Order: sequence, then structure tokens, then C-alpha cells
Amino acid sequence: MDNVTPIEKQQLLQELPSIDRLLRLPVTIDLMAEYGRSLTLEFLRNTLNDTRQAVLNGTRHEIPANAMLVQITRERLAEILLPTLRPVINATGVIVHTNLGRAPLSQATRQAMKTAVQNYATLEYDLAAGQRGSRSIHAEALLTRLLQTKAATVVNNNAAAVLLMLSTLCQGQEVIISRGQLVEIGGGFRVPDVMAQSGAKLVEVGTTNRTHLRDYAAAINDNTAAILVAHHSNFKIVGFTTEPTLAELAKLAQQHSILLLYDQGSGAVLDTSPYGIEHEPTVQEGLEAGCDVVTFSGDKLLGGPQAGILCGRADLIARIKKHPLARAVRADKMCLSGLAATLTHYLMDRALEEIPVWQMIARPFTDIAATANTWAARLQSQGIQATAINGFSTVGGGSLPGSSIATRLVAITHHNVDELAAQLRQQQIPIIGRIQDGRFLLDPRTVLPHQEETLLHTLNRHCV
Ligand SMILES: *Cc1c(COP(=O)(O)O)cnc(C)c1O
Repeated sequence: MDNVTPIEKQQLLQELPSIDRLLRLPVTIDLMAEYGRSLTLEFLRNTLNDTRQAVLNGTRHEIPANAMLVQITRERLAEILLPTLRPVINATGVIVHTNLGRAPLSQATRQAMKTAVQNYATLEYDLAAGQRGSRSIHAEALLTRLLQTKAATVVNNNAAAVLLMLSTLCQGQEVIISRGQLVEIGGGFRVPDVMAQSGAKLVEVGTTNRTHLRDYAAAINDNTAAILVAHHSNFKIVGFTTEPTLAELAKLAQQHSILLLYDQGSGAVLDTSPYGIEHEPTVQEGLEAGCDVVTFSGDKLLGGPQAGILCGRADLIARIKKHPLARAVRADKMCLSGLAATLTHYLMDRALEEIPVWQMIARPFTDIAATANTWAARLQSQGIQATAINGFSTVGGGSLPGSSIATRLVAITHHNVDELAAQLRQQQIPIIGRIQDGRFLLDPRTVLPHQEETLLHTLNRHCV
């Protein structure tokens, strides 16, 4: 209700302090020391303007005290400077969660990345020769040793790896792919779009659920450069399905002197089947089957930093490295140093102990159950309705579709579970969980050990 007269409004506005007056206050001097002069000035002006507007609109009937005006300014400054990229607690049970940044990194990987950026580094410098060297050497020897292949190279991410591979090896020629693999993979990676961008012509064969070797064979002609196999990793066609094996396709490709290219995706280099989940096809299996080039991500099941890795035949990798696009999608020193450190864990048989993604996959049910039971008991003692129940974690990140690992969850009952979830997302360290059957679920498998106390503390404050 606007029941303030124009004259009253004018009187109110006269009480509004000048910017100079505010600037002389000790609290403003503190604010400037903290946020700098230009931002502080800009935001003090905004506060004064907004207050003036509110008086004129009739929504404000008194002028706040000067200290209050500065306090409002301080809160607004803090709000705009709060980083938008912040740590969260992943209690979803999705191990490689693309929206939450995929793989958390091992201690040694983090240290290597920090060292690389704190100092000048031998990124493109040959110490023995005292002259310019190549950045491509850093992770490559470790990759070829681990994958038992001839050559490898690293780019910014796997989408770039696939684009670079097709641009180099298939531009202006045909590439055969099964209809069942023309999929959108996590993060908006669409195989047909990437193929179009590379200048390769897509030739689709088979149907969504069945593609035979003879379908591929019938599509091969003089202008065929390659068969591309994209691991359709984030969905699963169940039931009546057929797809030739990589070995069968490799033989067919060889008979026709065309290439077999394999977008493996997840970067699994260890067998997942001992941990109660399905076997995810590994990079080594692709190479052993006879694929000419295999591509995969660094930050999914490999458990390292964001990267795209291409490996396989030396002559093809050499051509790929020379393509002009390679420069545009090159990896940086943080990526290369971190990737090398992660690869070292595999080479020294320490992956399960050191790489967080693999620690989570391999963590025994009994261990998770003990944690879930302890959390539930602690929350109960604070008056929170929490119980431990059996459930499932998932690998995520477009790997192992339809495959889940038995876990033990903490289920919280709350009168308004959506509001609880929203509140937990608003915390300084937000907690991301799942809602199922009206309960808020937390999976200890994906909660990092150093975040446990923060998690329980925050729950204590908000769940009662
Ligand atoms: C994840 C994935 C991609 C995209 O990789 P990014 O590293 O996210 O660029 C491409 N292909 C497959 C099969 C994938 O699983």
C-alpha cells in the first residue's frame, strides 16, 4: 500500500546519507580494505540507489541506519564474489558424476598438478639439448607401457580426441557406424554431430537393436575410410540384440584395407567384474582385438584429470599429432602432469589403493555398511529419523549402464523432503543426495573421508 505522500517521500530521501558520508565510516574503510575501492564504491552506490527507489515506490517507509546500509552492501559484495565453482559433498552414490566434476584425484596426482603450476616446468623443453622439446612426451611413454601399445597422445577431452581422430583419418570419406551406437553420451556428446564436424560422411548400418557383420560388409565401398565403434556406455539395449565383436570387425576392416576405430569412452584399464559389477570393456581389450586407434576420457574410470587419450598404431597416431586441430585441442601442463601421476598408480599396481574412483568401486559392502550404520546411529542420537537400508551405488559417467554395486544407505525421513534437499544444497559445502519414496538418501560410498564430519554436522543442523 502506497500511503506515503510525495512530501513525506521527499523528507525521507533527505535523510539518505551521501556517498561521501558513508565513505568516512570506519566500517566502510574496513569494507574497502577487504574488497577494494572500485567494487565497494559501485556497490555502495547501488545500495543508495535501491534505497532511493524503494522510498519512491512506497515500499520503504524509513531509511536504514548508515551502518545498516554498509552491512547490506557487504552482503551483496560477498554474494557476487562467492565462487560459482565450489566443492560439494557427493552423497548420490554415483561414482563418476559428470555434473559434479567426475573423478576426484589421488593425492599424488593433486601434488603433481600443483607442482606443475607453482613453478616453471619442462612442458616443451628438452633439458639434455637445452632447447625446445615436445609436450607430447610427458604421459605417452607411461601410456604405451600400461596399454601395451605402440603409440599414444593426449588432448583436452575425449570429444576432442574423437573429433581429431575422424578429422585426420576420415575427412571427406565414409565412416560406417551401427545405428545402435548413434547416441548422445553424457555431457551432450553426439556421435553424428562430431562426425559431421570432422568432415567424415556417416554411413549408418543395421537397426537400433541388431547389426550384423554382413551389414557392415555390405556398406564398404571404395570411399570407405573406417568403421567406428562407439561404446554405447550410458544406456543399455536389453533383450534381442546383436552386434559383431571388435575382433570380427577388425578382421573385416583388415580384409578391406579400412580402419577400425574404437571410442571406448570410459578409460577402464582394470577389470570391474571382481567388484560385484559387470565387466566394462577395457582399453587393452580394444587394442588386443585389433582396433587401429582407441580413444577414451582421462576423468571417468581412469580416475585422472580431464583429458582425451588416443592410442594404437604408431603411423596413425603420428598423423593425428600433426593435424592442425591437434594444436587447438592440446592438453595443458596441469593435465599432463596429473595424468602421468595417475598412470603411475596403475603401473605400480597401486590403483585400488590410491585412485579415489577405484577405492570407491572396490570398497567392500561390509565397510560401507559399518559407516552407514554409524552415521544412522549418530543422527538418531540427535533426534533425526535416520535408518540404514540396503541399496545400490552406480558407476556413472557413461560407464557400465544398468550396472550397480550393492551398498548401504542412510535414509532420512523428514516432513518436507524436497525442502530438506533444497536446504542441504544451499549450505556452504552443499550436500547432494537422492530422494526416493519420500526419503532423503545418502550413500557413504561417494562421500570422501575428509568430508564426513562436515556432512554429519550439517545434517544435525538441518534435519531435525
Ligand atoms: C564420455 C564419452 C565421450 C565424451 O568424452 P569427454 O571426455 O566428456 O569429452 C565420448 N565417447 C564416449 C563413448 C564416452 O563415454
